[in-house]
This record gives sequence, C-alpha cells and structure tokens, in this order.
Amino acid sequence: MISGHSKRETQAYSVIKEDILLIHQDSMETMNFNSCNCYLIKLDEKDYAIIDPGCSRRKLNITLKNNNINYQNIKYIYITHGHSDHIALLDLLYKKNPNIEILIHEQDKKYVEDSNEYYQMLFNIPLMEKETKYKDFINAINYYTISNSNQVIKNSFKLIFDVWNIKDRKVNDTFKDGDVLPGDLKIIHAPGHTPGMCMLLRERDNILFSSDIHLSKTGAYISGNAGNVYQLKKSINAVITMVEEGTVKMILSGHGKNPITTDLKRRLLTFLETLTYKENQLIELLQAHGSMNLNDITKETFKLYLKRFKKYLTNPDFMETIVIAEASDMMTNLNSLKELERLNKIKQISINNHNSWIIT
Ligand SMILES: [Zn+2]
Repeated sequence: MISGHSKRETQAYSVIKEDILLIHQDSMETMNFNSCNCYLIKLDEKDYAIIDPGCSRRKLNITLKNNNINYQNIKYIYITHGHSDHIALLDLLYKKNPNIEILIHEQDKKYVEDSNEYYQMLFNIPLMEKETKYKDFINAINYYTISNSNQVIKNSFKLIFDVWNIKDRKVNDTFKDGDVLPGDLKIIHAPGHTPGMCMLLRERDNILFSSDIHLSKTGAYISGNAGNVYQLKKSINAVITMVEEGTVKMILSGHGKNPITTDLKRRLLTFLETLTYKENQLIELLQAHGSMNLNDITKETFKLYLKRFKKYLTNPDFMETIVIAEASDMMTNLNSLKELERLNKIKQISINNHNSWIIT
C-alpha cells in the first residue's frame, strides 16, 4: 500500500455480499469527478445492474475483468440522482453496451439529459443557449462569483463541462417511489439533496443503498438551487425511522467508507445535525461580520465543517473550486434562513463587474 493513501483509494473493489460488489472511486487528489461509490448487483447467472456509475474507470475495468463480467452483461444502470459524480461513466457504459437501460427518477431526468438544466441547478446560473461553449460556461460561473478562476480550477471545471457536454444523451425510463426494480430493489424517493434523489431498498436482507444520505464526515448538503434543506431533513428522518423499525440494517452509501452496519441511528443523527450546524454557523458568521459577500461566507463556513480535508484547506486552488461549487448551495441555505426570518437581507451587488451578494 502506498503511504498516505487509504485502502479505499488503492483497492479496486470490495465484496459486500456474494451478489454485491462495491467499486471504488478515484483518489481525491485527482480532483476529477469519478468520486462516487458504485455498486454492481448480480441479477441472475449472467446479468448485472449497476448503481451510480461514478467510480474510477480503471477500477471498473479491473472489477469486471477479475469477476469475468462483460459490459454486455450489465443490463441496467440505476441512477440515484443526476449529479456528475454519480454518472461519470454513464457514456462509457452506453458506448460499450448500447442495449443498456438507463433509469432515473422523473424529477432528475432533465439534469442527466440536458447540460444547461444541470449547470443551472448546480451553479445557479441562468439557462444558456443549447450547445453552450466552454467559454460561456466559465463566464456564467463567474456571474455569481468574484473568483479569478485560475488554470487548475478551469481544468477541474472542464471535466464537469465535458461530462455534460454530450448531445442526445437519453435515459430509457423513469422510476417513482414504491417501484421495484430488477434485483428486488424498491425505490424510496428521498428528495432534498436533489428533487428526484432516490434510495434503493432490498427488503429481503435489509440493505439500503442510500445515495447522498452518505453519513460521511463532510455532512449533509443540498445541491445548488434545486436542493431543499427541509426536504432533506425529512428524508434523513425517514431513514432513521426505517432503522428504528428494523427495515434497514446495512447502509451502502454513495460516498465514504462502506458498508455501514453499526451505530446507524447515531450516525444518521450526526449527519442530520450537520445541516442545523451549518445554518447556525452562517447566522453566527453574519452576526460577527455585519455583512459579507457570498464567496467569503462560503469559504468560512466550509473551513468550519470540512475538517476532514484539512490538508486541502491550505491549497488556494482547492478552496476556490469549493467556493465555485458550493456558493449556490450556500445561497439556497441563506434563502431558506431568510424565509424563516432568521436573516434580514440578501442583496445582489456588483464588485469588479462580477455579481456578488451582501448578506446581513
Ligand atoms: Zn450528489
């Protein structure tokens, strides 16, 4: 094992059960978006389904090779929600097997099929022309940040742009709450992180594929202007109820170390608390500073709850990237606090020809 790397980063896959493999993500240091836990489910003697193909491309290949699985054996792709890290290998899988069936919840379908819907959802930028050029995309991001995007950041966002800038990507079908997919996987709609986020429950052995209710230290978060803090709290509480009732005994989540089999309720409560913690931090920051712009608020709050990534906090490129990615998430948090009348004012202003916000 290479020192400084966790087992999860070097190992290609883990055997969760005889019919469930977890394929690992790329190292965080690559700063790409193949950063999701991907699950391969055996359906019968030859067929498989894959949940969230956002793992490392190299590790997917090793996993298939070591287990004598061809791309043609993968019949279905189940996407828990339309974020780039959960579909990074979607187009590769489709190319290798055009008969593959891609399924997602109706409300997240547009984020996978339409890049502009995706950019708008994640970065809170206005809908752009069809077939957006990368230059326009970067300009649009700057619409709400005063950051001077440098090359590292641009490379990083080029990746997200490339994942989406694919014409005519289509999902084959949509699912809804209560549907049961091949593999005995029951759909549980869990909105909040995105409107159409779904978890998959295998009732026969109490396994929940929990997507971005992932229980890792980074905490719960919503995505841009499509997220909803209060829906997310409700969805996390629904998982807590399933744990209390004994319906869920193992969680297989979209991020972090898995499987999770112990201390489920406490870990879910801790995860839920991160949302309240973030809101309180925001209020405290604004009380201490009087008013702040969105970039500074995002940076400061992120520093507070992202202790896990300590080594990155000193890396200005990383921080700038985070600010761009997190600012619209922060905006949604701020807007919900405003609705609750815990904030007075959110005002859009212009600094150096870039739009920013002053919040008091
Ligand atoms: Zn996500």
